[in-house]
Amino acid sequence: MTGAIPGLPLETELPERVGVLVVGAGLAGCAALLAAAEAGQYAVLIEKTDAIGGSTVKSAGLSAFAGTDEQTEQGIEDSVDLLRADLLEVGRHRNDPRLVDLYCEHQLETYRWLKRHGVAYGEIHAASGQSVPRSHPTDTTAMLVHLLRAAGRSGARLLLGTAAQRLVRDGERGRVLGVDVVGPDGEHRRVLADAVVLATGGFSQDPELLATFAPQMANALTAGGAGNRGDGLKMGLAVGAGLRDTPYIKGTYGHYAEPHPDEDGTGILAVYKGAIAVNALGRRFVDESSNYKEIGDAALAQPGVRTWQVFDARTMAMSNDEVPIYEFAGRERAGMLVRADSVAELETALGLPEGSLQRTVADYNDAIEDGRPDPLGRRHLSGAVGELFPLAQPPFYAHPTGTVVLATYCGLTVDTRMRVSDWWHEPIDRLYAVGEVVGGFHGAGYMTGTSIGKAAVFGRLAGQHAAAEESELAW
Ligand SMILES: Cc1cc2nc3c(=O)[nH]c(=O)nc-3n(C[C@H](O)[C@H](O)[C@H](O)COP(=O)(O)OP(=O)(O)OC[C@H]3O[C@@H](n4cnc5c(N)ncnc54)[C@H](O)[C@@H]3O)c2cc1C
Repeated sequence: MTGAIPGLPLETELPERVGVLVVGAGLAGCAALLAAAEAGQYAVLIEKTDAIGGSTVKSAGLSAFAGTDEQTEQGIEDSVDLLRADLLEVGRHRNDPRLVDLYCEHQLETYRWLKRHGVAYGEIHAASGQSVPRSHPTDTTAMLVHLLRAAGRSGARLLLGTAAQRLVRDGERGRVLGVDVVGPDGEHRRVLADAVVLATGGFSQDPELLATFAPQMANALTAGGAGNRGDGLKMGLAVGAGLRDTPYIKGTYGHYAEPHPDEDGTGILAVYKGAIAVNALGRRFVDESSNYKEIGDAALAQPGVRTWQVFDARTMAMSNDEVPIYEFAGRERAGMLVRADSVAELETALGLPEGSLQRTVADYNDAIEDGRPDPLGRRHLSGAVGELFPLAQPPFYAHPTGTVVLATYCGLTVDTRMRVSDWWHEPIDRLYAVGEVVGGFHGAGYMTGTSIGKAAVFGRLAGQHAAAEESELAW
């Protein structure tokens, strides 16, 4: 697929020695490659799979930036101070404040750098953890293609089907010298580099690492790039890197509960447009206006794990084809919704205990109509926005819904130059890490748009710093 994209700096011969060797062709790796190439280094990017993109191209493509042209055009007042406060609040102050400051300091210049290279952003949305709308949507494949083409023009090269396996170190504690790799032909090779940048993404596709670091996700669904199996994490740990934020791996609520070709990974959040969430006993179990990560945790604790978002025609009328999480009509067309003319029929169709869903809906509706407080604390549709309304307009719908691990958020410790550091906070010489393989930035919670955001902001910084390492290349 990638081969069909014109203008990529594809290479088939693996060099023996490079300036900066970047591992993993998601956003973090592509940004690092371009920045290193722009700084004048011979930069090479190796990608394990046959295509660029990793989780980046499967994502909703939202980046969290503050103070952008698009925000100004939409009359949104944002600031770096507000962004910093939100990041720390969402992360419950467990974030590494140096990384939060670093992101805040460099996010706007990174946004401008991306735009200069052709990246375009659409209408800004509000999203989880943002006190003002700052989710900037973009076509992520187009973004990576822009970065790679620009990197190619500066002399950088990309090799597909080439997997990094182990870091090579000078003695037990010396500098990182390069990487042992396996090429598309299965041949093992060693590539020496002045600096190595790990940009291998997270481990949402690795059952073993998930079981090790996130046993609470045992019943969760998973999504993300096929190559995201924690290779960079393991390589970093093997040379003594520190690790942060593993307790804070969270799943996202909304994903279709069975494998389905039309589930693109984003799921739907009908709960934010008036749906209730019910479990296998036909009972509500959460304040549906809460953060989708918290709803995800609550759903995983339910009997049978699978839950349903139940809604009526009024919510269906709010379906929006432009916003994947609100594309309810599209899900109906794809056969992903159960539909019935009455709550009683819906209850039977879902196989819920007799009378259970009818009681739940009646209680929910009565409380709203009588102005009584909701026993689960729900006061709005989403966050502090939107007035509650009863589920009363047929037809009624149910979306079988699970919790999905989209990203793993935790990872290797780094300093403010993106150098990987060990357990004693000493940098491991000439080893850098960026993107989802890095921990410390999100802390205890993730603000929408900051995984893509950190891949770009820290990827670019890592490329610049890695390019500044003393070169042993003879030009
Ligand atoms: C459905 C979905 C929706 C999402 N939506 C958003 C969103 O809107 N906003 C947001 O901020 N975040 C979102 N995320 C999370 C975000 O997409 C990722 O955290 C981010 O893209 C990670 O970028 P990355 O460059 O670090 O890793 P990736 O984009 O995953 O790239 C890593 C690359 O490294 C390669 N690789 C792995 N091991 C090796 C190896 N040994 N050798 C060579 N290559 C290797 C992989 O194959 C992969 O191509 C979403 C994720 C998913 C799955």
